[in-house]
Amino acid sequence: SAARGWVPALSDDDGAARARAVLAEAFGADEPGEEVCVWAAPGRVNLIGEHTDYNAGLCLPVALPHRTYVALRPRTDSLVRLASAQAPGETWTARLEDVGPGEVAGWGSYVAGVAWALREHLVAQGADPAAVPGFDAAVDSSVPFGAGLSSSAALECAVAVALDDVAGLGLAATDAGRAVLATASVRAENEIAGAPTGGMDQSAALRAQAGHALLLDCRPGLDPVESATQVPFDLDAAGLALLVMDTRAEHRLVDGQYAQRRATCEDAARTLGIGSLRELADAVDASDDPAAALARALDALPDDVARRRVRHVVTEIGRVRAFVALLREGRPDAVGSLMNASHASLRDDYEVSSVELDVAVDAARVAGALGARMTGGGFGGSAIALVRADQVEAVADAVRAAFEREGLGAPGFLLATPSAPAERVA
Ligand code: ADP
Ligand code: MG
Repeated sequence: SAARGWVPALSDDDGAARARAVLAEAFGADEPGEEVCVWAAPGRVNLIGEHTDYNAGLCLPVALPHRTYVALRPRTDSLVRLASAQAPGETWTARLEDVGPGEVAGWGSYVAGVAWALREHLVAQGADPAAVPGFDAAVDSSVPFGAGLSSSAALECAVAVALDDVAGLGLAATDAGRAVLATASVRAENEIAGAPTGGMDQSAALRAQAGHALLLDCRPGLDPVESATQVPFDLDAAGLALLVMDTRAEHRLVDGQYAQRRATCEDAARTLGIGSLRELADAVDASDDPAAALARALDALPDDVARRRVRHVVTEIGRVRAFVALLREGRPDAVGSLMNASHASLRDDYEVSSVELDVAVDAARVAGALGARMTGGGFGGSAIALVRADQVEAVADAVRAAFEREGLGAPGFLLATPSAPAERVA
């Protein structure tokens, strides 16, 4: 029950009905006989490959069954009017001509930003930007905010498929088109909402498939279609479950720490005379003696901190490769030790874990999880544990008890069944 911290996913029927109800309440009911359409996009969780995206590395997200629902009614003018069940009483309004970098603020910037980015895309194609109309839209969601599960991308990507439909662009019909929608959603978040994020979240929300993980290759300049690969990850068939443990802890110092880690990696790549740490990871991977190859590179770095940061990035990219190889061999129950090693590397070498994340991971393992690790940027947010399906409750109970014992606030729990990408649901 919710009282014990469980966060259930909304069914598509419930999500659509709730989004429609928010729309009717805020902006009036539909014309008789007409029902407004509803689109949904999932949150995501990253299985492995942390702090690798900005090093041109690999990551492996899955789409959650938890989705953000957007009921959207196109308008004949360029006004955007928004309401959200998660922002009660905060109706958001702007004219599309007034949306641009630095021009709008608040949660509506994630939504209007997508309309802006799609108009920019049409202009770049030599097409008429007015194909993307103004609209009234209402939102409801079961993706927790700020838990590292990407409620922001879920919101953007639900809007992206909605506008794709109402503008008749047809982009959501193909993976290449979905890559265009992902780019537009990233631009909305970076340039209009002003949040510097990579592309993992939007690619997962638009391109992940049910029963699969999405292997993303973050090398810049790669063809977007080639940068994403489906990897079978059927938890049900394997009798497994992926438990998300939301620490519900405040992110602390996360901004400055993130920029520092990034700068350290970029400095190290410069020192090593390479474009990105991915090049080192590839060289280590191809070497006859990977440990020696890594040690030689680390010896060339100026200090212990840089050596540990680089060791994390290089070994983490290797762990993504090993994880994917096990999934392709049909051995999802064998990835636990890779998850454990990833956590140790993030905690000890990259130093981005937190007390809450360590407590969750340790308690889950003691209670029988096959493996557990923090997920996302760190310093708060969520951890994941791979557990036998019949041990989910026992592991959650153990984590809850450990938080209580350590005097930490109560955690939340979600089941991350690899689910479908953004789509129209009603
Ligand atoms: P995360 O993506 O990890 O959940 P972010 O800080 O990136 O956290 O995004 C959360 C922000 O996205 C919220 O503060 C809000 O501005 C916006 N947002 C996400 N979902 C909704 C929603 N359902 N209704 C209104 N705003 C939302
Ligand atoms: Mg986000």
